[in-house]
Amino acid sequence: MTDFTLKTDKDGVAVITWDCPDKSMNVMTFEALGELEACVDQALGDDKVKGIVITAGKDSFAGGMDLNVLAKLRDEAGDDPAKGVFDGVMDMHRLLRKIELAGMDFKTKKGAKPVAAALPGTAMGIGYELALATHRIFMADNPKGKVGLPEIMVGLFPGAGGTTRLVRKMGAMAAAPYLLEGKTLAPGKAKSAGLIDEVVAPEALLEAAKAWVLQANEADLVKPWDAKGYKMPGGTPYHPAGFQTFIGAAAMIHSKTQGVYPAAKALLSAVYEGAQVPFDTALRVEARWFTSVVLNPVSGAMIRSLFINKGALEKGAVRPEGVDDQRVRKVGVLGAGMMGAGIALVSAMAGIEVVLLDQDQAAAERGKSYTESYMDKGISRGKATPEKKEAALALITATTDYAALKGCDLIVEAVFEDPKVKAEVTEAVEKVIGDDCIFATNTSTLPITELAKASKRPEQFIGIHFFSPVERMALVEIIKGKKTGDRAVAKALDYVRQIRKTPIVVNDARFFYANRCIIPYINEGVRMVGEGVAPALVDHAAKLLGFPVGPLQLIDETSIDLGVKIAKATKAAMGDAYPDDAVDEVIFWMAGQGRMGRKAKAGFYDYDDKGKRLGYWDGLAEKYPVREEQPDLTEVQLRLMMAQVLEAVRALEDGVLTDIREGDVGAILGWGFAPWSGGPFSWLDMIGAGKAVEICDYLTETFGARFTTPDLLRDMAGKGETFYGRFGAEAKAA
Ligand code: NAD
Repeated sequence: MTDFTLKTDKDGVAVITWDCPDKSMNVMTFEALGELEACVDQALGDDKVKGIVITAGKDSFAGGMDLNVLAKLRDEAGDDPAKGVFDGVMDMHRLLRKIELAGMDFKTKKGAKPVAAALPGTAMGIGYELALATHRIFMADNPKGKVGLPEIMVGLFPGAGGTTRLVRKMGAMAAAPYLLEGKTLAPGKAKSAGLIDEVVAPEALLEAAKAWVLQANEADLVKPWDAKGYKMPGGTPYHPAGFQTFIGAAAMIHSKTQGVYPAAKALLSAVYEGAQVPFDTALRVEARWFTSVVLNPVSGAMIRSLFINKGALEKGAVRPEGVDDQRVRKVGVLGAGMMGAGIALVSAMAGIEVVLLDQDQAAAERGKSYTESYMDKGISRGKATPEKKEAALALITATTDYAALKGCDLIVEAVFEDPKVKAEVTEAVEKVIGDDCIFATNTSTLPITELAKASKRPEQFIGIHFFSPVERMALVEIIKGKKTGDRAVAKALDYVRQIRKTPIVVNDARFFYANRCIIPYINEGVRMVGEGVAPALVDHAAKLLGFPVGPLQLIDETSIDLGVKIAKATKAAMGDAYPDDAVDEVIFWMAGQGRMGRKAKAGFYDYDDKGKRLGYWDGLAEKYPVREEQPDLTEVQLRLMMAQVLEAVRALEDGVLTDIREGDVGAILGWGFAPWSGGPFSWLDMIGAGKAVEICDYLTETFGARFTTPDLLRDMAGKGETFYGRFGAEAKAA
């Protein structure tokens, strides 16, 4: 394998080209770092070489570190994993520092060879960190190009000097959006922000970098932090301005992460401590904090779910084998309401022809106009162009005429949630569409197998369950009815891939997977209000666990009347086994008071005219007085957590879920399940099955049978097993 090659031109510039074979984008491995170092050594040691340009042989520079390697770093570090990881990271620092100093005599600041980075396109993570170690960064004006350090998104922080260099380059405050939020920028904006130095036409990239290398003077090659009298922009922590920044940053990080994301805190510590010591010491500080984050189970779980497994699902890990390409050319969307309008939008943006059908032309047009206003917003924010808007609109035909559905290879039905209406449209559509067309329903509550009875070809009938708002939510739940065939599954997966979302495939059962888990979460919160637990304790307990919204806020968002409707239907289906009468008492009463949630500007919260939450509604405490003695925070958290997690385990036991990766990824993307945990199964593995059983037994005894330990969990506790050990992809393959 050769990822890096060196070629010295007649002009004396050594061009080091990064080009991972068999990969569309470069990713860094430890072997590749070794190759890079050999090239750098050769160039620095060769008197004929005047300077170096580091570039890539692709239309991007690099996607970052190979996270598969990073996940394994810890496991392969032997008896002393911390030392293994730390040494590995320090080795990376040593190499990048070698590139940065490029042979310079530190005392005289002389003797360095100029090194430029020439980035043909995207440079993420270590791709940008490597560029930061060079003396000048050139980037091609590539419309697809992005620069940034997104490590924080997977529970890490830039650990190859990116943290230390960026803060010393622009100051802690200016660097914060890139380090703490993983913000990435296109070339032009990256230059204005000071992330890179030059933007040039793609064809002139290499020549521009070479020309700079050949004319650079010695002063150009001394990094500010290596020059005498360097002062950090914005001030160090004990400088009056810096002091303000760091105090604010600590508070801001805590409010954003609630202390559950170790990487953000470790990043800030690395910056704070690093700012007070010389550069090389700061790199060691960065390496120590980075090591602590790599060894924290949170980063491992986040990388596994949000990078490795999410990526695998998007690439078709669960696609049936042997079914040929099912990419969609023309989709018919039935019902142009809230969901149908969103589905038409994302389909058209993926270049798919859309027929958007509703009962009357005005409703169909209204649905289409959603794409128009979405694109207009995009244009005003500089994220779309009038051409893109026209192209998307040109793909959508708004109609009431079923004949327009001719030629569709996929139908997505999003009419009213009523089995009769759905059956009628299914029959009407099947009269028009071709024999091989797949019919999907976006129902959120009705069993697919039942709906499929209206179809003449149930093997071509499937559930494609979008979340609202369609254009923002990344997850799509694909549901197989009893008779759904492989081609329908492949079609749904290929479609989801076209619209760039993440799929999970589950079997048919009440509420499928996501709603099945989220309803008990909401119910547990509501139940606590009925018991006299302070509403603020309920919502805050959830937020402190890393959930984006507490259960009471969530039911206000999704609406109390929907809750009532679901409760009635569930009770009718379950009869005496129905466990949630105590919950219904609260929400039925709320509905009776006209407190329907945010849309009514009245729910568990009060709202102002614009729908902004003001605080909990006083009437709630009158009906359900807050008990003098409040439960422990941890107890409230365990109830909220276990309500969802046990449902996920039951979904696995019942065969609704067939792959724990889907259970974890689906939970995070579908309902914001504490992303730091890696998902319900990762969380259970983190605390251990034994501990989970202990918690369930306690909750069952104290709060009732809904917390009964699933047999599977008890079995695993007895055997000392983990979910990923027992059901992980590797275990399955074995
Ligand atoms: P909606 O009421 O906003 O839209 C339904 C649309 O279907 C309306 O425009 C209506 O005119 C049209 N329609 C009704 N009968 C029709 C017929 N016979 N022929 C053609 N058009 C017809 O509802 P929505 O929120 O978009 O939900 C649609 C479906 O998506 C439902 O099955 C719902 O359960 C499901 N769903 C909704 C959400 C959500 O958050 N709203 C999320 C996931 C799934």
